[in-house]
Amino acid sequence: MPALSKQERARKLLALAESEGYERNADGVFAMLEKSTYDSVVPGACTTCSYTCECEPDARRNYCEGCGGQTVQSCLTLAGLC
Ligand SMILES: [Zn+2]
Repeated sequence: MPALSKQERARKLLALAESEGYERNADGVFAMLEKSTYDSVVPGACTTCSYTCECEPDARRNYCEGCGGQTVQSCLTLAGLC
């Protein structure tokens, strides 16, 4: 799995926050992460394509239905919190 740079992780988190109905800015990302801290299912995104889905909070290499890779990470993993 390719490692994402900080900028790529930030872009993924901003897009994920927007797709989850939060603002596409730092406040939106923080709100999404705060809510996800208390949930058993959280937003996740593929690290190689634009696919998003719900996943476990500690997901690091879940299957991606978009590209077929083991490339889906939770928002908490993308943020380096899990
Ligand atoms: Zn994918």
